[in-house]
Amino acid sequence: MTVPEQNHFACSRCILTKADAPNLTFDEDGVCDQCRSFDIAYAKVPRTWDEAEPELNRTVEQLKAAGKGKPYDCLIGLSGGVDSTYIAYLMKQHGLRPLAVHFDNGWNTELAVENIDRIVTRLNIDLVTYVIDIEVLTDHAIFWALYDIAMRNRIKYIISGVNVATEHIMPDGWNYEKYDAYNIMDIYRKHGGARKLSNYPLMDRRKWRKLMRSGIEQIQILNLIPYDVAEVRETIERELGWRPYTGKHHESIFTRFYQGYLLPRKFGVDKRKAHLSNLVCSGQMTRDEALREFQQEIYSPEEQREDLEFVCKKLQISQEEFEDFMRAPPRRHLDFENHKWFFARYPIFKPLLPLWRLYKRRTA
Ligand SMILES: [Zn+2]
Repeated sequence: MTVPEQNHFACSRCILTKADAPNLTFDEDGVCDQCRSFDIAYAKVPRTWDEAEPELNRTVEQLKAAGKGKPYDCLIGLSGGVDSTYIAYLMKQHGLRPLAVHFDNGWNTELAVENIDRIVTRLNIDLVTYVIDIEVLTDHAIFWALYDIAMRNRIKYIISGVNVATEHIMPDGWNYEKYDAYNIMDIYRKHGGARKLSNYPLMDRRKWRKLMRSGIEQIQILNLIPYDVAEVRETIERELGWRPYTGKHHESIFTRFYQGYLLPRKFGVDKRKAHLSNLVCSGQMTRDEALREFQQEIYSPEEQREDLEFVCKKLQISQEEFEDFMRAPPRRHLDFENHKWFFARYPIFKPLLPLWRLYKRRTA
């Protein structure tokens, strides 16, 4: 069968196209490399609870053993979203004693705060709220803070919500590694203006070394179970009184605005395409359902306007400044210094850094 010309550019299984991700490649069946990568990762994930049981039980025992004689068995992040809420539930179901950490970067929606309240009350979990003063780059800050809190509480295991069933697919160039302190610092140096970054928990070499020595490990618990979002939502609504958000990661106003307004308008990236494709691949949605869902507006224009005002106010910029930023040509993370960069690889040459930067400024 010959494939019609235009279909060479759209995956025959998920909803990604070459227009979304120019690096996408297709095999002879018209299936894209993101789908194939998903298949490989998903082959290791159990599809039924029976299949999941031995490994899950072994992990639970491992966590209990590590927590023996201590107040907690493990550390969990709690954003109030589906994944972290379910992890909290799952931990308690298995008789574990998690310490929950919630990161308040000042962008939580009211609903997220209510959900977190309900979860910790119903499950009777200890909660630490960690306030991050600076609104940018929350993921980088969270990464360090989780290890820091685990070290302080002598907790060996951090439970991660990363999972193949709902969030494996992510085309090249749609996101960037959150751990790259070089990249953050260079962007800050060039565009940070006069704002101070002194409170920001940057992952420098000293922190990396401390983290490596800590022996703390991450466990991706959602990859050890059959993770079905519709079922999980129903469970946490029923058991914890959890209330749903309109989109994935919409528990934060900034994430909602970033994924729903800024990324699609400035960078032409609509992450819903990756998320929906992922659900198609894991059999939680048909391709037609995903395409229909994608046709819906990301979120209402009124909400977008409200969020835009809120974001500008909170970042202390005018709406004109924001519009200038939106009009400026997009830049890639790799246009800035990054961890693959020469001086990051060979710190012995670091004394030459000021000279190099001077040279770059002259030639820029
Ligand atoms: Zn695909």
